[in-house]
Amino acid sequence: MKITFLIPPVLDGTSYVERCSGCNYGLFFFPLLPVLNIATLLKDEGQEVSILDFPAQGKGINDFQDFIKKDDSDIYCFYTVFLCQETDRRARNMIRNTRKDVRFIFCGPQPTYAPESFLDKNDTFVIRAEPEFSTRDLIVALESKRGLGDVKGLSYLDGTKIMHNPAEPFIPDIDQIPIPDRTLLDHRPYCNPKLRKVPHTAIITSRGCFGRCWFCVPNSLDYARELEYKKIFGRKPPARLHSPQRVIREFTEIARLGFKSVTVIDEEFLWDEKRTLEICAGIEGLNLEWGCLARADKITEKIGKALGDSGCRFIDLGMESADDEVLKAIRKDITFKDTERAVAILKKNKIEVELNVLIGATPKETEETIKKTLKAVKRLRPDYVLFSIANPFPGTDFYYAAKREGWMYYGEYVPTDPSKDAIISYPHLSKQRLEKIIAYAHLTFYFHPHYLFRQILRIRSLSDFKNKIKTTLNFINRNFLRR
Ligand code: SF4
Repeated sequence: MKITFLIPPVLDGTSYVERCSGCNYGLFFFPLLPVLNIATLLKDEGQEVSILDFPAQGKGINDFQDFIKKDDSDIYCFYTVFLCQETDRRARNMIRNTRKDVRFIFCGPQPTYAPESFLDKNDTFVIRAEPEFSTRDLIVALESKRGLGDVKGLSYLDGTKIMHNPAEPFIPDIDQIPIPDRTLLDHRPYCNPKLRKVPHTAIITSRGCFGRCWFCVPNSLDYARELEYKKIFGRKPPARLHSPQRVIREFTEIARLGFKSVTVIDEEFLWDEKRTLEICAGIEGLNLEWGCLARADKITEKIGKALGDSGCRFIDLGMESADDEVLKAIRKDITFKDTERAVAILKKNKIEVELNVLIGATPKETEETIKKTLKAVKRLRPDYVLFSIANPFPGTDFYYAAKREGWMYYGEYVPTDPSKDAIISYPHLSKQRLEKIIAYAHLTFYFHPHYLFRQILRIRSLSDFKNKIKTTLNFINRNFLRR
């Protein structure tokens, strides 16, 4: 069978969606690892696969229409998150209007959350939760014209009746998933401006997180997994980690392919000290720049040194707030002191720090707590800050509380850009006020002469310069011009 994985151009009048994280409109392009995983597994099974990332390749609607007319794939597969669901449905409908006898597979968090909203005809199938093995089994079943009843994690239409097969048991040993074949994807458009070298790729070394944060929308792969598990068991699934040996093998393969920088997109890369030290020692000689997300309470002196020695150039810390009462209310299970300590260790080891700051994630947040947070950010002098307004995403505890207590401005979740728009509103902190505060936070941090000067001093190459300029222009366009 010929199977094409599609990331269509934006078809719903919004912006390019960063599908790895799933909850943001993107400022730069990133390889879609979950799709690469499925495509690799299918290729290993002898299927003909391709991945087309229209936005990253700078291709628009006309290119997409031309592609539909010429292409002869049997199956089109979409990895869909909340923010791009309309685009993906429209892309499916455009293909349907031109080509007959093709089939469509939707997977990712949004089809997992609401499979019915994709199943309008018998040509469409939804894979819920972790997509790799279920997609493979579905393709085998379609090829052999077998019944679909045995395909775990599948939702489909049987006549007019929607069928939901039992869930795929959560992959107990994720080392079974093959190392993604990065040659399936043209990596030239991908970058992370926090890393200076290209070509750039991404890696996933674990699934899930042990944290309890009530607002948390983890990366889209973890979120799909979590949504399905919560439906069945009412709680988060246990995390699964790749073994250190497997992580080292994948980093080594990345270096062999000629990549120079890697973003680890796990929710939490620093699990226990032993695993982290083993991985750092194993990748030290590869000459790769890399960066990851981490919880502040996991950064110790020993880990800070090992990270720096192994090529780690940035860490994103989920600080959220400088107020411990706010941190307690959102169940962050860290204190502001943890963040202060982690920032000091990382700076000592010459690792750049991004602080992720979330405002309005609890009614305990006030103008005063936000001021305290903004002052603390200024004092800590991070290299980057990601300011977001808390968005009650469907499926999170925050969402259910917001609905119950009437904090949703529109009464329900609507897709929105958390870097500038609020859909939450408290009696003492309105939607409009939150939006003004976040614009002020962006303006005072990113347009401060100190910040601009530091960024200019850090430019190391022409590609680094180009990536920074492109990201800055996208940032200005998204956060100020399109308001
Ligand atoms: S630590 Fe991070 S990934 Fe884990 S639950 Fe909290 S916000 Fe989510």
